[in-house]
Amino acid sequence: MTKYNISLIPGDGIGPELMSSAKMLLESINDKTSVKFSLKEVDAGDHALSKYGKALPDFTLDAIKKSDACLKAPVGESAADVIIVLRRLFDLYANIRPSKSFPNIKSISENVDLVTVRENTEDVYLGWEFYTDEDTVVTLRIISEKASRRIAECAFKTAIMRGKKKKVVSVHKANVLRKSDGLFKNVCREVSTKFPQIEYSELYVDACAMNLIRNPESFDVIVTTNLFGDILSDEAAQVVGGLGMGPSANIGENFSLFEPVHGAAFDIASKNIANPSSIFLSIKMMLDWLGDKFKDPLLFTEAIKIENAIVTLLKQNYKTIDIGGRLSTSEFTRMLLDTL
Ligand code: ATP
Repeated sequence: MTKYNISLIPGDGIGPELMSSAKMLLESINDKTSVKFSLKEVDAGDHALSKYGKALPDFTLDAIKKSDACLKAPVGESAADVIIVLRRLFDLYANIRPSKSFPNIKSISENVDLVTVRENTEDVYLGWEFYTDEDTVVTLRIISEKASRRIAECAFKTAIMRGKKKKVVSVHKANVLRKSDGLFKNVCREVSTKFPQIEYSELYVDACAMNLIRNPESFDVIVTTNLFGDILSDEAAQVVGGLGMGPSANIGENFSLFEPVHGAAFDIASKNIANPSSIFLSIKMMLDWLGDKFKDPLLFTEAIKIENAIVTLLKQNYKTIDIGGRLSTSEFTRMLLDTL
């Protein structure tokens, strides 16, 4: 029987509370099913920076390298020194962020089921910024054909795997960023010809931001560049009721990292009120990815059980405070484990 090695980063702010719930879920799967995990907690983030002088210490990196996948809770001020470095080091080129309507959560529409496929390795996130004189800064925006092709192919494959509306929309600002987004758009258009079963369209990023509010149920897969994807996926999370329900995956060829879409939320840290669904649904994405990688159908079964248990609780109005309920983090976690 395969044992899956999972590295866990508890992070900062609400991170450790979410990770404690996540560990309870993973340990319960370990105890009650034939899926087995070996869990290794590692330090990264603000806490690691003050303790070891490095937000991402070498021993943390070594432990992550030895694992099959990493589950990361949010980190605080040092986020850029952790997640952006990990994305680059492991070449985690696709950031997949699903936004789905759940029962009894106030939202703009009840039938949203979309996913943002965000290019994760370039654009302005390389952090190449320079002062040209005392009061002027130039930022370099990198868009390459190789990265655009890779993310476009990932988006079309995602649309096929989802088997839902079978649509991909590429989102850009090629009317202003003629060369960089022009390249991105042209590559998406070219890749679309290889997937005739998928309906392909294009939208300017401003029109997409508007349509996500006006007509969110019309979307299936959105493929876009790094900065636009960062912003649009937070908007899409809000459309379905808030960041507390938002999971994400950072996918590479051989390794992937899973994390909630939100940040460390220091305003609600240590109060036992954070919504753990974002990390539970990130575990669901992790099990689906491991299931696909190791061809293990048991993992798919456990993955869907997690989502079904959350839906069951929400249908009965068992909710945390952020989505209009009264349950604490630990109460919701306990109820989820009981439901499973
Ligand atoms: P960042 O800039 O790193 O994205 P941030 O602190 O600006 O982080 P988030 O942490 O992403 O913003 O979240 C914004 C707000 O949403 C938080 O301040 C918090 O009130 C709420 N929030 C985020 N995640 C959760 C959660 N899991 N449960 C409940 N509320 C949440």
